[in-house]
Amino acid sequence: MPKEFDLIAQYFTRPAPEKMVGVGDDCAIFSLRSGHDLATSTDLLLEGRHFFSDVDPYLLGRKALAVNLSDLAAAGASARACLLSLALPSVDEAWLAGFSRGFLEMADAHHCPLIGGDTTRSLDHITIGVTVMGEVPRGKALLRSDAQEGDDIWVTGYLGAADLALRYLSGSLALDSERLQASRAALENPAPPVSFATHLPGMAHAAIDISDGLAQDLGHILKASQCGAELLLADLPMHDALRGLPANLQNEAMLAGGDVFQLCFTAASTQRDALQALAEQHDIVVHRIGRIVNGSGLRVVDQNGQPLFLAHQGFDHFA
Ligand code: ADP
Ligand code: MG
Repeated sequence: MPKEFDLIAQYFTRPAPEKMVGVGDDCAIFSLRSGHDLATSTDLLLEGRHFFSDVDPYLLGRKALAVNLSDLAAAGASARACLLSLALPSVDEAWLAGFSRGFLEMADAHHCPLIGGDTTRSLDHITIGVTVMGEVPRGKALLRSDAQEGDDIWVTGYLGAADLALRYLSGSLALDSERLQASRAALENPAPPVSFATHLPGMAHAAIDISDGLAQDLGHILKASQCGAELLLADLPMHDALRGLPANLQNEAMLAGGDVFQLCFTAASTQRDALQALAEQHDIVVHRIGRIVNGSGLRVVDQNGQPLFLAHQGFDHFA
């Protein structure tokens, strides 16, 4: 790309934090605090698949990092630094200005400095790859495989709104402007419970972030932990944007809707008060939605104790 180095200098270079080597050398370098493990995760966002071409680049910049911070949160890790790889079909200065502002704002807010990356021209379409690195006290990372029979199942935040916006934007659902505004914010500006999650190691057992739908993502915990789960439909924290819509749409959006970037985690019932207090301290909401049981698979029951049939479990990229 002709102006590759100028672009990097203009949009993605910030002074490296103290004791770190950042943008401008062959490798970025920093030390982990002693007694900690490195937690790392990477996510690709493809134009037309993970985001619409006309999405606000500022919001896209925020989301590109947020979805990665969400993975660190699921491990109970705190962010240390990130890398950004961009493949761009052309140099669109307005797009780059908005995108980098959103990305770097999110990076600052979560103390996750951008310390390197790669920038190249693509044949067509934008591809965004972000890698985050975080740290977690040694041996204490939250895993999908640690749920225990009798655990409470919790979720942070509210469910279903991002799915509503996705249905609207892909033309399969009509929405009034108020609902659209509320649900679009959930889709385009997700806010994973990053600081709350760093306190979960030692309190929670298993955790996952909800990217492909609660039923499917909780299913990963159940499989890895070799147990089953029972959820009460009435206890699912429904996003306000869903109020008054048909029940089957509400249920599908809450249970199978993706792009949530909130956490589902399990914890012993002795942790209830402590978890509620922790959530309040971090200005987020948590809800208990069910429990881990002996067996396998997920059962969702309604007010009458009748099991719910789920037509769609969640989003499968290769379906
Ligand atoms: P190399 O040729 O060694 O791979 P590059 O020329 O690709 O290095 O990149 C120069 C410097 O700019 C490196 O430190 C790299 O990490 C950084 N960099 C490249 N693209 C980005 C980006 N999109 N965001 C942040 N840093 C970047
Ligand atoms: Mg390079």
